[in-house]
Amino acid sequence: MRKKPLSFRHFKQFGEVLLFQLCRGTPTHADARRRFHFDLARDPRHDISRPWTKAFFRLLILVGVATASAILPASAQQEAPKLKVMATFSILGDFARNVGGDRVDVMTLVGPNGDVHVYTPTAADAEAIRNARLVIVNGLGLEGWLPRLVESSGSHATTVVATHGIAPRKIAAGEILSRDHGAGSSDPHAWQSVANSEIYVANIRDAMVAADPANAATYRANASAYQAKLQALDRDVREAVARIPAERRKVISTHDAFGYFAAAYDITFVAPQGVSTETEPSARDIATIIAQIKNEKIPAVFLENVSDPRLMRQIASETGAAIGGTLYSDSLTKENGEAPSYIEMVRHNIRTIASALAN
Ligand SMILES: [Zn+2]
Repeated sequence: MRKKPLSFRHFKQFGEVLLFQLCRGTPTHADARRRFHFDLARDPRHDISRPWTKAFFRLLILVGVATASAILPASAQQEAPKLKVMATFSILGDFARNVGGDRVDVMTLVGPNGDVHVYTPTAADAEAIRNARLVIVNGLGLEGWLPRLVESSGSHATTVVATHGIAPRKIAAGEILSRDHGAGSSDPHAWQSVANSEIYVANIRDAMVAADPANAATYRANASAYQAKLQALDRDVREAVARIPAERRKVISTHDAFGYFAAAYDITFVAPQGVSTETEPSARDIATIIAQIKNEKIPAVFLENVSDPRLMRQIASETGAAIGGTLYSDSLTKENGEAPSYIEMVRHNIRTIASALAN
């Protein structure tokens, strides 16, 4: 069979391969490269086995790669860059890492053991937020300091409100816990109900899919796998609570961060400090709590990683209640701590509560 000479089509395809080098990773050009190689290497009409033909095509490819390398900065030639995500605090950062996996680069503004209620952003935060594509926030009034930071940074990131679709717990009038927020305002600590966290994860997944559709399947699969773990966690918490005698399901925590946990799992929480760590309890608030602990024979008080422990030690010594340990409400710990991830945080909290209230 007589071999056909190279046609215009082949040079057109070579141009597409050059384009592939320029826009490496996009499916269209990956496909062009495959067609080019298929046509030249597999089509029996073209004798590519001859040494000079082989050498010629190798040279063509080399020229293509060299041209693309010379034109483009190194970063554009590597794999598609990771989606840059900024989360306001450590718990949201953990959700984002679980959904995004290795396709995202997650940073948090308020890191482990930090207090998201009273954060003061730095110049480096403004720089980091300017480079982010997604900013994940809790909403419900938690990050009062954020809007000014986003505005001053000149960020064009999409803001994702992770609590979107969650029924907020309203702070009731007359609650001792409501001095810092008016009655009727929302309690921001919605992640303390594990069922709510599944909604957080769904919102984060949808935002990542919209921002980076090329990796949609990965985000969906990661989110489903993580939500299955959350469902198992929710079942485990319910089982642990069920083993605590009903009359002993009462807990004193420093700031009122467990309202959603209390509602979801039927444990009574009382906190002298209100829903934010921002305000100090008055002497009258503390006297009321002390009276309540004595009247209701509340067995244990708990410390927090984001609150000053002295108040709870004082309450414990005046009431005879035991210090039940540390509960983690608003912030994870570092890797070597008791609560380095959301799931470990919830497991630690329920273990600590159950053992303090057991007998
Ligand atoms: Zn809080």
